[in-house]
Amino acid sequence: MKVIKIGGGCLKGESVVANILGLIAERGRGHIFVLSALYGITDKLMDGVWTSLKDEEQIPSIINEIRQEHLFLARVLMESEMDFNALKQEIDNHFITLERYYYGINFTREATPRMQDIITSYGERLSVILMARALESRGENAHFIMPQDAGIVTDGRFGDATANMQATSENLGKTVKPLMTHDKILFIPGFFGISAAGEVTTFGRGGSDYSAAVVAAALKVDILEIWKDTEGFMSADPAVVPRANLISVLSYEEASELAYAGASILHPRTVEPVRKSDINIAIKNTLDPDGPGSLITEKAVPVPGVIKSISHARDIAVLKVYASGVGLRQGILARIAGRISDAGINIKSVVTSQTCISFLFAGKDVDKAHNLIESMHPRLHRESEVLKDSALISVVGDGLHNHRGIAARCFTAVAQADVNIEMISFGPSRAALYFLVREDDLERTIISLHDHFV
Ligand code: ASP
Ligand code: MG
Repeated sequence: MKVIKIGGGCLKGESVVANILGLIAERGRGHIFVLSALYGITDKLMDGVWTSLKDEEQIPSIINEIRQEHLFLARVLMESEMDFNALKQEIDNHFITLERYYYGINFTREATPRMQDIITSYGERLSVILMARALESRGENAHFIMPQDAGIVTDGRFGDATANMQATSENLGKTVKPLMTHDKILFIPGFFGISAAGEVTTFGRGGSDYSAAVVAAALKVDILEIWKDTEGFMSADPAVVPRANLISVLSYEEASELAYAGASILHPRTVEPVRKSDINIAIKNTLDPDGPGSLITEKAVPVPGVIKSISHARDIAVLKVYASGVGLRQGILARIAGRISDAGINIKSVVTSQTCISFLFAGKDVDKAHNLIESMHPRLHRESEVLKDSALISVVGDGLHNHRGIAARCFTAVAQADVNIEMISFGPSRAALYFLVREDDLERTIISLHDHFV
């Protein structure tokens, strides 16, 4: 048995969705599908939260836009008028509830994280209903089960939940496993689970990959497949390096480093649950389903140059906090980081020296973090400064720390591109080396590194 995850990028437009349905019917019998919302729907649901907070009159049109998108697809995909009408009724019940939640937000003037999670979970609920009913309409033995009925249990942290694997495994063993037969196609919505207290809690944006990994690990399936509309992990972003090639095998470590570093193939947390159960992840291209794709597995398959990929993330900002004796003063790092994360700002990474702590942020977050540090009492630092428009480059390959000369070759390649490195970090990872350059220098740095190593 497999768990197969299909992302929103593949649930976009009538012809693409029809193609996916065909693939599911052809290859999906006996397997479990974890789905994202239709393309763009989570954003619309979230925008609806802010709009309904301000303006009650827009609520019907928010609902209508999302509803029409689903009905339009349903009209194309359902085999008969009768099936279409039944589906319409079924999803309209959900739209009635959703509309009430939006009015609730307007009425209470409160868009709590709890309410945001409830509302955004509708994207996945609806896509699963639509896909299962469309296959049923074609005569397939297709069903769905919602996370609350399956028993995907979370720690209750709104917007950033983690699954309780033990409880989830026990539950799915009882709820999902007995449902599976050789010809059944079972759908489960990704992105959310239910806390012990019964609250809908999402795994964060892009979290359906993680959901699929949770289901795969809970049921100890043979493999987790991620269906995408791209080939798999590449040796660099082909938009920057046209001759970048597909990486056919990666270790768990390499895949998570690449995911964290900005390769938008996989949500960074996906590896965590499957790794413990030693389940491989296969990235498959829905546009070329028999193509090789990328396989993520325990054992690294070394390549002669050690380095497999040069990944990058743009729009990175650094907040440099200067204080003397960082390494001698107990708790300074925790107090500064705590102040930032208490305000809900994500710190991407931290690099410290004895005189300076550098925090990495997404560009949009840095000014807020800076203000928080500057308004701290008592003040723990001497001064602070912000550096914007940087890009984070990561050079990834398992074992790079055991190979002499990799760092030297890396910095030679950067120097040859006539680029200055702003900050270096040898993380605790066995598989990655990170550094920052100016965003303007990004492309030539990557091209030079790729030429050098790959
Ligand atoms: N629909 C959610 C999002 O857009 C989860 C996912 O697609 O993975 O973030
Ligand atoms: Mg995704």
